[in-house]
Amino acid sequence: MHYRPLGQTGLNVSILSYGASPLGGVFRQTDDSEGIRTVHAALDLGINFIDVSPYYGATKAEAVLGQALQGVRRDRYILATKVGQYGDGQFDFSAARVATSLDESCARLGVDYIDLLQCHDIEFADLNQIVDETLPALVRLRQAGRIGHIGITGLPLKVFPAVIDRVEPGVVETILSFCRYELNDSALESLLAYFEQKGVGVINASPTGMGLLTERGVPGWHPAPQAMIEGSRRAVEYCRSVGADIVKLAIQFAVSQPGIATTLVGTASPDNIRKNVAYAGEPIDSELMARVLELLRPIKNHNFTRGRPENRDPIVA
Ligand code: NAD
Repeated sequence: MHYRPLGQTGLNVSILSYGASPLGGVFRQTDDSEGIRTVHAALDLGINFIDVSPYYGATKAEAVLGQALQGVRRDRYILATKVGQYGDGQFDFSAARVATSLDESCARLGVDYIDLLQCHDIEFADLNQIVDETLPALVRLRQAGRIGHIGITGLPLKVFPAVIDRVEPGVVETILSFCRYELNDSALESLLAYFEQKGVGVINASPTGMGLLTERGVPGWHPAPQAMIEGSRRAVEYCRSVGADIVKLAIQFAVSQPGIATTLVGTASPDNIRKNVAYAGEPIDSELMARVLELLRPIKNHNFTRGRPENRDPIVA
């Protein structure tokens, strides 16, 4: 496993890291003991960064992750969770909720300190509230030593500079972007120099586009337009026809971008996490990569958007 610095946080994170949303049964019904073994396998393979949220499986992912972390030395993992999103369409970015949310997450996770606390999906928030209320509440928790670092997450890319440019340097230490640096969409690239200049660490999530670039395909709730689903399927089928695993290419594509500190992949299967870590370390078949990128060209940088109208990116669907 290789490690990269996460912005100016002083943390060195594994280039492939563990996204715990599948522990909440977000993609399929999962077996908790298998999920717990997946977390242990990830740590044993050198993954040191784990991301979760109270939102995933309506607190279930945090609870199962907490069980997995029982008895694991606290310095073996860097733990990130989130505040602000609690159910479908249920958001509360108030300062009061931030404080109770942290306490509840710590109780479920069985820890008394969170390394990185992130505002979850700020495109659904009034960004004035994020700047004037939520982030100051997080800064107070950081000053009090309850959390180590502060981040923001979202799908539309425009929300990141919209907040970072309005706060003092060092308030926002990381961003988490998802589905914007994968085989069919590399729009996140356009902001990497900006994040570097601002000293903000970049976390990239969902290298398979939340299942688009997998054999199983997307879950029912997935917001991708039909053209993206069909376009991705062509690439999945091509890889199968030549005996290749598209997930391998998807992971290699993401972890080979040096401007991204870490890429979060989600799975509740120990076999899949083992495969994924191995993929991250293997050389890229550049001929196959070129062929698959070519196949995906018709849907290049097509994606979905969401959030309040003023926070949405212009998107090609
Ligand atoms: P992902 O692209 O990592 O895809 C997960 C899907 O891929 C699951 O269905 C999983 O079973 C499958 N998969 C993983 N490895 C596989 C393999 N080797 N073979 C076949 N299938 C495989 O998407 P994700 O889980 O949504 O993203 C990763 C993590 O990033 C999440 O768990 C979460 O922690 C984080 N995330 C955060 C946000 C946010 O903060 N807004 C949004 C998306 C994701």
